[in-house]
Amino acid sequence: VREHWIASIPGDGIGIEVIEQAHRVLKQLEKLSKTFKLHIDTFNWSSNDYLKTGEYIPADGLKTLKKYDAILFGAVGSPDVPDHISLWGLILPIRKMFNQYVNLRPIRVLPGLSSPLKHIDAQDLDWVIVRENSEGEYAGQGGTTHDDTPYTIANEVAVFTRQGIERTIRFAFDTASSRPRKHLTLVTKSNAQRHGLVLWDKIFYEVAAEYPDVKTDKMLVDAMTVRMVLKPSTLDTIVATNLHGDILSDLAAALSGSIGVAPSSNLNPTREFPSMFEPIHGSAPDIAGLGVANPVGTFWSVAEMLKWLGEQEAGEKLMKGIEKVTESGFKTKDIGGNADMVTVTEALLRELENSY
Ligand code: NAD
Ligand code: MN
Repeated sequence: VREHWIASIPGDGIGIEVIEQAHRVLKQLEKLSKTFKLHIDTFNWSSNDYLKTGEYIPADGLKTLKKYDAILFGAVGSPDVPDHISLWGLILPIRKMFNQYVNLRPIRVLPGLSSPLKHIDAQDLDWVIVRENSEGEYAGQGGTTHDDTPYTIANEVAVFTRQGIERTIRFAFDTASSRPRKHLTLVTKSNAQRHGLVLWDKIFYEVAAEYPDVKTDKMLVDAMTVRMVLKPSTLDTIVATNLHGDILSDLAAALSGSIGVAPSSNLNPTREFPSMFEPIHGSAPDIAGLGVANPVGTFWSVAEMLKWLGEQEAGEKLMKGIEKVTESGFKTKDIGGNADMVTVTEALLRELENSY
């Protein structure tokens, strides 16, 4: 049997709840498939640790994670900790240390869900967003001078490198080329951001020349929000900077029915280091502890993780199972149902049982 070592980091709030359900799903798949064994180790790094020790990740934490084949992540964030501290304290160090330079976000309207866009059919919305995951506004550059005076200046420096842009754009062309419609849209704001994003435009067309089978077009990010809402069927694969990709993928998730169903993969495409899989939603303090969080975004992320680990069959069966569950009405409140999280999970466990 194949063996996979998974580091699981539930984090805070509903992250803890949905990851617990994800473990049940993974154990069920392991039991049913009989072809792989999973070693899941849980790391309870959270905002509580930060409040006690001043750190999210213990001193040797990243070194420990490096040995795993994949990382499963819930969500981080607490009303007691400023959001920039939790983000930079837990998720961003992992993305950076393991060179997870692509954030891949598939978006579809699952069976049984409806898009808030009333003028479209479910199949009109089938996208993959490739978000650059290591640079731009998230490079951590900048600083504040004359703080606490009327003359404060805060510089938020976006950093773009040829290497960083090119590897992400190449990944996006490979992704587009593997999909039936073979269409890639570049999103920038190269009219206003005239250095980094002009470089994005330039590299995009250089790489495009190597992919004659992929049709391309280019949008400014503001106009892109309009196109996503009014003409979703004209889009297929989308590539964008770290910040633009972050914002557009939350919009995309909402258009697909709920932020609670959307998955994301933080990929290290060279496979030198572990990749990390997480739902795109946050810790949702407003519903934490109530057992009503939608676990679908996490389950879909688990399906992506299994495929990345080479467990194609288990990943596909899981995805089919998720679709059966939403289609047959086991839905949490955010997608118009009244099932709680555990009921949805148990419907999925039964579906999986039937599928083997
Ligand atoms: P959020 O995603 O936590 O919640 C936004 C809204 O969507 C809330 O009303 C919430 O109840 C709802 N929601 C989110 N996930 C849901 C689910 N699975 N099922 C049902 N409803 C769901 O975003 P926020 O409120 O902006 O942020 C809350 C905290 O999470 C903050 O501390 C923020 O920094 C953090 N955050 C973390 C991540 C991450 O860990 N990757 C991502 C985004 C936000
Ligand atoms: Mn986001």
